[in-house]
Amino acid sequence: MNCPNCDNNIAIEDWQDDEPFECPECGELIQLVTDESTYVGATDTRLIIYEAD
Ligand SMILES: [Zn+2]
Repeated sequence: MNCPNCDNNIAIEDWQDDEPFECPECGELIQLVTDESTYVGATDTRLIIYEAD
């Protein structure tokens, strides 16, 4: 999975963890999101830049 900000490759240890974390390369806060609204059995997991409210 690559950082959406700097494209650094990041090893995801826990795919269920949606807590934002800092990219070790650029320091951007990023978050793992899983979109389960697609059809059954197909989930789309990706990294996004975290935006606080
Ligand atoms: Zn980065």
